[in-house]
Amino acid sequence: MLKKSSVMPTYARADISFKSGVGAKLYDVNDKEYIDFTSGIGVSSLGHANAALTSALKDQVDAILHTSNLYVIEPQELAAKKLAKLSGYDMVSFFGNSGAEANEGAIKIARKYGEQNGEAKRYKIITLEHSFHGRTITTVKATGQESMHNYFGPFPDGFVYASNIDEIESLVDDHTVAVMIELIQGEGGVQPIDKTKVQALARYLKSKDILLIVDEVQTGVYRTGEFLASNVYEIEPDIVTLAKGLGGGIPIGVVMTSKKEVMSAGDHGSTFGGNYLSSTAANTVMDTLNVYKDSGALDEHFIYFADQMDLFYKAHSDIFTQSVGFGLMRGLRVKDAQTLGSLIDAAREEGVMVLKAGRNTLRFLPPLTITKGEIDEGFKRLEIALGSL
Ligand SMILES: *Cc1c(COP(=O)(O)O)cnc(C)c1O
Repeated sequence: MLKKSSVMPTYARADISFKSGVGAKLYDVNDKEYIDFTSGIGVSSLGHANAALTSALKDQVDAILHTSNLYVIEPQELAAKKLAKLSGYDMVSFFGNSGAEANEGAIKIARKYGEQNGEAKRYKIITLEHSFHGRTITTVKATGQESMHNYFGPFPDGFVYASNIDEIESLVDDHTVAVMIELIQGEGGVQPIDKTKVQALARYLKSKDILLIVDEVQTGVYRTGEFLASNVYEIEPDIVTLAKGLGGGIPIGVVMTSKKEVMSAGDHGSTFGGNYLSSTAANTVMDTLNVYKDSGALDEHFIYFADQMDLFYKAHSDIFTQSVGFGLMRGLRVKDAQTLGSLIDAAREEGVMVLKAGRNTLRFLPPLTITKGEIDEGFKRLEIALGSL
């Protein structure tokens, strides 16, 4: 089947294909059931076939899909207001279609800010090693992984990589305009950054008028327990980017900033960005998760997942070396990459989907609405998968 594919071979795809899902359960074309601990890499935040989301989308499809950003789009206006309210940040939002596009927007805002503020032209952006910021030419260069900088150059100038958060200050010079970080590195291996260090960095950057960009493409929209990981870290970034979980499966990316006046008409754009369909998806996801959070159910399920994962971790200290992450962005470090690969394959065979991150991390990004029954069943199947190795 895959050998005849006309799709460009940019992914090492597993030979498996799904036809439906409900909640945290997926069904493949042979009707085999899987527990989904991946939510399509943190996207299906409400699970599959969520009733509120499908009904809101169906109503929107019946009414209108697209008009372009040349006109006011009411659901987009509403989404921008909700983003400011739920984050607690007095920010304006620009809507695009992906995480990479959101980060491109963040970089453009920072560059224009650097052009207009300060004596020297400021354009340099410091990012961290093992970060991941996207696949466009600019965001791939912003990504602090040498292995991703092959073939595609020349790249835009001005990205500087710090080996860790402690090194950032020493890399600042007169041309530095921003620092861009993930608070928990996702693709890099579920690596949370120390909260006190981030708070100290935020204070330092503020004192130097250097912008703090937080890439919340993976951590955002309640994934870590609050609306943003920045809320958990109790910082006030200048720019925040969102994507993955915000649309519940409909493509969307957002860059938010408190620097409301930097961008003006003609500076940036997107044909599709924030159209009726994606804005309606975002509004429904935000409303649903906000209610879920306020009811206490989100925290209760996070704790339940953490407890089950912990039991699994402790029962297999011969294979796992560390438990990392928080909220529903979690990982277990596996003693070696080969065991991790075999475990992911065996898990799929047993009917539970899990992810790899970094070199040796078993990553869990389940739907935020996963039930206790689904969590139990998932770990039961993982247990069997481990036993079969
Ligand atoms: C996934 C991801 C991106 C890229 O998002 P796309 O929608 O694939 O472009 C950027 N930053 C982080 C932190 C991510 O996890």
